Amino acid sequence: MSSARLSGVGVSSGRASGPVVRVAEPLGEPPAVPAPADPAAEAARIRPAADVVVARLHARAANASGDAKDVLETTAAMAADPALLSQAEKLVTSESLPAARAVHQAAAGFISALEAAGGYMAERARDVRDVRDRLVAELLGVAAPGVPSLTSPSVLVARDLAPADTAGLDPTKVLALVTEEGGPTSHTAILARSLGIPAVVACRGVLDLEASALSVDGDTGVVDVSDGTVRAAHVAGRASWNGVGVLRDGHRVKVLGNVGSAADAVAAAAGGAEGVGLFRTEFCFLSASSEPSVDAQRAAYVAVLAPFEGKPVVVRTLDAGADKPLAFLSPEPEPNPALGVRGLRVAFDRPDVLERQLEAIASAGAETGAEVSVMAPMVATAAEAAWFVERARAAGLRRAGVMIEIPAAALVAREILAVVDFASIGTNDLAQYVFAADRQVGAVAALNDPWQPALLRLIKLVGDAGTALGKPVGVCGEAAADPLLACVLTGLGVTSLSMNHTALAGVGAKLASTSFDLCQLAAAGALAAADPASAKLAARAPH
Ligand code: PEP
Ligand code: MG
Repeated sequence: MSSARLSGVGVSSGRASGPVVRVAEPLGEPPAVPAPADPAAEAARIRPAADVVVARLHARAANASGDAKDVLETTAAMAADPALLSQAEKLVTSESLPAARAVHQAAAGFISALEAAGGYMAERARDVRDVRDRLVAELLGVAAPGVPSLTSPSVLVARDLAPADTAGLDPTKVLALVTEEGGPTSHTAILARSLGIPAVVACRGVLDLEASALSVDGDTGVVDVSDGTVRAAHVAGRASWNGVGVLRDGHRVKVLGNVGSAADAVAAAAGGAEGVGLFRTEFCFLSASSEPSVDAQRAAYVAVLAPFEGKPVVVRTLDAGADKPLAFLSPEPEPNPALGVRGLRVAFDRPDVLERQLEAIASAGAETGAEVSVMAPMVATAAEAAWFVERARAAGLRRAGVMIEIPAAALVAREILAVVDFASIGTNDLAQYVFAADRQVGAVAALNDPWQPALLRLIKLVGDAGTALGKPVGVCGEAAADPLLACVLTGLGVTSLSMNHTALAGVGAKLASTSFDLCQLAAAGALAAADPASAKLAARAPH
């Protein structure tokens, strides 16, 4: 095993090695059989299991501080709750259920009562689920699901991580992240990049690797068994760039930041972003179980807009659904969530939620002095775009645009641009939908390569429409973060590029070294290519 080497897709730059910590998979509902031979003895297992869970939570709370400490202490109190425990004991004795199943069933009653109460009480349902899972795991003798609390720097290995789990990772403890599933444009990959954690996704076999330590290369995607020595991430040196997106012939292409939190915004401003091309507002509320009030939203947006006073910031309205579920906007179960009610489609059913969000955005813009525009996600038609613009204007927002991330929208880009102030191409979803290749599935990651000529040809349609109508067209998908591809996108008529803060200087420096003529040559070569590798070669020729 010591010579094992695996290969996945490197999605967040840097190298690191250290001991492995595995993220346990979610536990399903424990089986109701076999019935315990001695129900009284089975019921008597519940309190000692709860004592172990409570002691563990207290020990973790003792080493934590601030909010984390409070959360752990509240969870410990809940794990000791006599009402939950005695209800579970009763289910074991009266219905002959195994203890783990009884705990699950007892917790279900509490969870539905809390959810029905709504508001603050509904927030607590998540804590009961957490306690339930810990108790069930203890009773079954397996590891508790979810990201364990790390006491020392470690390499995290998981099947995949939810965006909310990834957003909560502590970059001082997580040396690197390796997932068996996931694609390069998945939100887990995007969040790992923004936290500066080297990451490899779609790494087949990593879950079966019995290594206790790994070395991870987030650039090449190579994962090796290592000796356990901790080596900190090495991130490539910063290219030199003066913070203005301009080609050497004076052609302007704004270089902007993608942000989802105040920390991202500070990092983007420090990295030289001329503004923000994509503020993913849903990232602020991944853990909220009820809709944040207008005031709470305004406060969250102010924190992100503050570093950009006097600068352009494109705030995207909630893009809930598929791999970014928001508990307060969850649709009915759908067979294909990525093709279901997500993005702006949620707002058609709940225009009140959109109206409250627009109100909060307008007031955060006024408070911070940022030049705020709003943008709708997942727009398919010009009529949908017009619907959104009307609401944005009614909320007093002067500039309103839409994302082009559904192939139909790229095909009717002219009609869409005619009714909006700007468009921004979301290459992550545009690739997923044009190739029918789920961006979260590692097995189809090659189709989601932003160098695919089919994707570039769709982008050209949008760039041409923008040029014809004299309206700005940006790219805010991960494609914008690749310096050579940034030249191709510029040649296709794109007027701004928005990316993770770590990519700003590299893209800015590359643009400063080229000219619009060369970008157009690179674009023509890439468009005519038959596959991603030849597209890249063709783009490199003039560069
Ligand atoms: C995209 O789809 O390219 C995009 C920028 O939006 P998100 O990644 O948040 O879906
Ligand atoms: Mg998208």
